[in-house]
Amino acid sequence: MDSYTHPYTFSQRAQQLTSSTIREILKVTERPEIISFAGGLPAPQGFPVDVINEAFGRVLAQNGRSALQYGPTEGYAPLRAWVAEDLKRVGADVSPDEILIVSGSQQALDMLGKLFIDPGSKVLVEAPSYLGALQSFSLFEPTYVAVPTDGGGLIPEGLTADSAAGARFIYALPNFQNPTGLTLSLERRHALAERCAALQIPIVEDDPYGELRYAGEALPGLLGIGRAAGATVVRLGTFSKVLAPGLRLGYIAAPRHIIAKLVQIKQATDLHTATLTQMAVYETIKGGFLTQHLPMVRDLYKQQCGYMLDAMAQHFPATASWTRPEGGMFIWVTLPEHIDGTKLLARAIERNVAFVPGEPFYAGAGAKANTLRLSFVTVPEDKIRAGIAILGQLIKES
Ligand code: PMP
Repeated sequence: MDSYTHPYTFSQRAQQLTSSTIREILKVTERPEIISFAGGLPAPQGFPVDVINEAFGRVLAQNGRSALQYGPTEGYAPLRAWVAEDLKRVGADVSPDEILIVSGSQQALDMLGKLFIDPGSKVLVEAPSYLGALQSFSLFEPTYVAVPTDGGGLIPEGLTADSAAGARFIYALPNFQNPTGLTLSLERRHALAERCAALQIPIVEDDPYGELRYAGEALPGLLGIGRAAGATVVRLGTFSKVLAPGLRLGYIAAPRHIIAKLVQIKQATDLHTATLTQMAVYETIKGGFLTQHLPMVRDLYKQQCGYMLDAMAQHFPATASWTRPEGGMFIWVTLPEHIDGTKLLARAIERNVAFVPGEPFYAGAGAKANTLRLSFVTVPEDKIRAGIAILGQLIKES
């Protein structure tokens, strides 16, 4: 305990925040000799630096005074219209006034916490789920209920009148989930939408990776399927994985009544997302740039994923199992039950290899400590092969 009495008092909300032990352990992964599969960063080779540079330049040259002025909380109108049009791609028919531009989808998660969660409110999450969402929601002190999952992602039948009663929403990641890399089948999307409509539970669909599909067939999103089934759906999207995360630009698509409340919340949070960034991103993508650009990013991720799967098949023991993602950035490994991912990490770091142990990705009951998340997008091929060989050896020795 800190014996010094500070001349200030943190809120109870802030006092319950703890820094994670794993984050502390992973600090060493910044050392250059470490082969890190721990990061969640997109590959910087995929950032279209020159195109974005030119777009910022054009916006400032042609429209500088508006680009540097305050703007509407809802977002830059042409960008909202672009997003609404783009959502046809995932099978949703929404109007631009059902779109709110946000400063990255992480901000959307925080705003949804403010909108829906009182202390003790029930929130349904996949087991495991995205750690950053759990962190955002946890500030509002929900009670998490884990929806059961299997090799096909979340199991809609696991959502029962009992388990779901009074839940404020279910948070779901249907494409190449973070952390598992799993994709929800079309049948399960429909089943989930129907169940949520019947149980009157809003669906929060988080889809940062949907455009990064490099295998299998694209599936319609929960937004369109859910609306058709009569469910309330709030969809989160982002430019972080299709352009660059440093832009801090994303969106929320939701029914007007929800958007109106979120606008009040966003106004109180940061007035609006940076006008210059919104205009420059619109300038970048308005002529169809993403259609040209994304195949390169998908090819890169596919290749990287292939290197890792190939090395795992060669070096991991038959007692381990892992997911084979159709897109995105992550592979999820399940080890024999007696192997604890956090203990394995400590030994891996001694051998200069890092990953994220699976346990922190679980909220509610039923955490599986014998799991880990591997990210393959930022590590060169030779290091992927070397790092996986070391991990395989450590698993066999355990
Ligand atoms: N949701 C998921 C599932 C993510 O993986 C991430 C980024 N790691 C985010 C949201 C946040 O992304 P951003 O704020 O950059 O849009």
